[in-house]
Amino acid sequence: MAESALGAAPGTMATMPGPARPSHLNRAIAARLKRDADGLVPAVAQQHDTGEVLMVGWMDDEALHRTLTTGRCTYWSRSRGEYWVKGETSGHQQWVRSVALDCDADTVLVQVDQIGAACHTGERTCFDADVLPAVVGVPGARTSPAPSAT
Ligand SMILES: [Zn+2]
Repeated sequence: MAESALGAAPGTMATMPGPARPSHLNRAIAARLKRDADGLVPAVAQQHDTGEVLMVGWMDDEALHRTLTTGRCTYWSRSRGEYWVKGETSGHQQWVRSVALDCDADTVLVQVDQIGAACHTGERTCFDADVLPAVVGVPGARTSPAPSAT
């Protein structure tokens, strides 16, 4: 668990971004949340039973609060500058099963029951349509050095 901020000089703590907007988020949770400069944390949505990684969105304190307390995933839309309840218009709701912070408290994992497609393109997940070529690594096998970028 990297806690560099806690080990830093006291004055540097003040530079850690606080909530971007007023929120009813539980104070103990809000105190641990490590937000980016815009007051947001990435939120990974995962299908609870298959393990599928469905999508990544952004949450501010209030979006996390609503996700924790309404049973539905709520995100902050960076493009529209407003809260966004997943599936409200598409019908592709995300019903919350569990919510966790990662070890650094800078990323949220929401396990959900996803209705239909998670991606706005109609794909089941946001990662289905653009698989990149990658060398498959085999544990214990010799690895070749990566080619230098030119
Ligand atoms: Zn998508």
